[in-house]
Amino acid sequence: MQNIIFIAPPAAGKGTISECLKNDFGYQHLSTGDMLREAIKEQSPMGLMVKDIMNEGKLVSDEIVIDLISDKLGEDGKPFILDGFPRTLNQALKLTELLNNLNKDYIVIYLDLPKEEALKRIAGRLNCSCGKTYNTLINSLKPKKEGICDICGNTLIKRDDDNQESFLVRYNSYLENTKPIINYYLSNKRLIKIDAAKDKQSVYQDIIEVIK
Ligand code: AMP
Repeated sequence: MQNIIFIAPPAAGKGTISECLKNDFGYQHLSTGDMLREAIKEQSPMGLMVKDIMNEGKLVSDEIVIDLISDKLGEDGKPFILDGFPRTLNQALKLTELLNNLNKDYIVIYLDLPKEEALKRIAGRLNCSCGKTYNTLINSLKPKKEGICDICGNTLIKRDDDNQESFLVRYNSYLENTKPIINYYLSNKRLIKIDAAKDKQSVYQDIIEVIK
């Protein structure tokens, strides 16, 4: 299977799709957002440093996320998914260097989603600590029992940055920082665009077609 880099606005479904690919095809799912949230939960020095920045919807420093990814990339020999990295051109350039050194090939999947749809998804999104994501505003993504994970029975939580104010900061940061990366990968002929406004199953099928 192809190594995958996801580029997407907030709430485009990269976490959800990554979990499916991990379960169905054994991918290593590397989410910088999850790694940072874990550091916050553990109250590590790095976690304490990034907590407010993340809650406000701003980007943490390139150095921190590059260190996180450099430590994990290619660790277990499985094909990998990068979810949420790179988010700046500087991160993308560093990643190209890392992947060249590891002799890893990859494709870049750009999940395209209009801002209004992203905002709607953020409003209904709930997460479980096991990694499963739900949405109370989308029938097919609601948990069977309100507020409870179908898989492990844990209580679902709302991310601290899943509110309208942080969303707007995150979306603007995406426009400003992440869109130039799209041009970078277009020029490398690596980019494949997927319509992420479709339902989850259709988006997943479109992605499977691309990675096989
Ligand atoms: P995510 O889970 O991908 O939506 O990321 C949540 C938050 O983590 C972002 O809004 C940023 O504050 C931070 N973050 C995650 N990945 C990166 C990255 N590659 N560069 C900078 N900040 C990041």
